[in-house]
Amino acid sequence: MADAIMDNQQERMGHGRCESAARPAALEPRHWGWGEGGGTRLVLLTAAIIAVAITARLIPSIGTGSAHPVTGSYPWTVALAQLPATAVPGRAAGRLVPAPHSSSAAHSLQSHGVTMARKWGLGGVPLRPPKASRPLKQVFGGKNFGVLARVPTRDNVVFLTIDDGAEKDPLFAEMVRDLSIPFTSFLTDYASRDNYGYFKHIQELGHHPIENHTATHPDMPKLSFQKQRDEICQQQDNLEEATGVRPRLFRPPYGNYNETTLSAARTCGLKGVVLWSAEAFPDRIDYPTPERKLGPGDIILTHFRGPGQWRGTMVDMLRRVLRAAADQGLAVAALEDYV
Ligand SMILES: [Zn+2]
Repeated sequence: MADAIMDNQQERMGHGRCESAARPAALEPRHWGWGEGGGTRLVLLTAAIIAVAITARLIPSIGTGSAHPVTGSYPWTVALAQLPATAVPGRAAGRLVPAPHSSSAAHSLQSHGVTMARKWGLGGVPLRPPKASRPLKQVFGGKNFGVLARVPTRDNVVFLTIDDGAEKDPLFAEMVRDLSIPFTSFLTDYASRDNYGYFKHIQELGHHPIENHTATHPDMPKLSFQKQRDEICQQQDNLEEATGVRPRLFRPPYGNYNETTLSAARTCGLKGVVLWSAEAFPDRIDYPTPERKLGPGDIILTHFRGPGQWRGTMVDMLRRVLRAAADQGLAVAALEDYV
């Protein structure tokens, strides 16, 4: 609305300037009466003066408009700490960054993001990941079959990976849909078989691929090559049958593997092994470094678990991850965009 008013005023002011440039005599004092022609000029000049006055009032209000995020002058990509303190009691409001462009579509998107953030008890809209740049070195693909615990990137992103599949929380599915949070599931058959449909539903939202975490979740190095291969290849078939997509990535249970595991995974058609560098729970995050914070490229491990298995819900867990990421200016990005 404010933009429309501004455009209209600038258009009117522009007309005034054109007329003045074409006929400078119009501004001479002798024409400032109510006589024929002078009246029109007076009206135009008055309109120009009013427009200048209104514009002067509008400019400061645009400059401070970001102090009122819900009205639409709010950037879509804003850190959690940047929402008003009222959204999270006890949290100080940070400096707001004005949106660089204004359009009704962008405002609508921002408004939707703010609404969804509040719905899920977040202090701000989760940061959107940038367009993925190439990893600093080739990760997987071709002859590269490697093991990865952190993505080699300088992008301000982290990755969320969720294992096993025991808990199928519909609220969590709703939350990731509302907030458009990408993550990768590593499913084991014994935990997820009773409802693969839950994971297929999330997969179909986009940016939620399902990867391989064995059929029965054994400690792989204790098994022979053939048994390890059976665990992995069988789960490839299970997941393809359940979701229509054959996995690319493998995560060994407990993060335990040996050279036999890597050979077995490769012969099942997998492209690489993904471990993790941080682990998230509803009530804490175990960080990879003594600084106790996330950094670019960190892969976060968590699990499909319910309140009976840990202190909180999947929703609590995701809220904690999003806050920890935003505290460091990091967005949650799609792993498959990088590996
Ligand atoms: Zn597991």
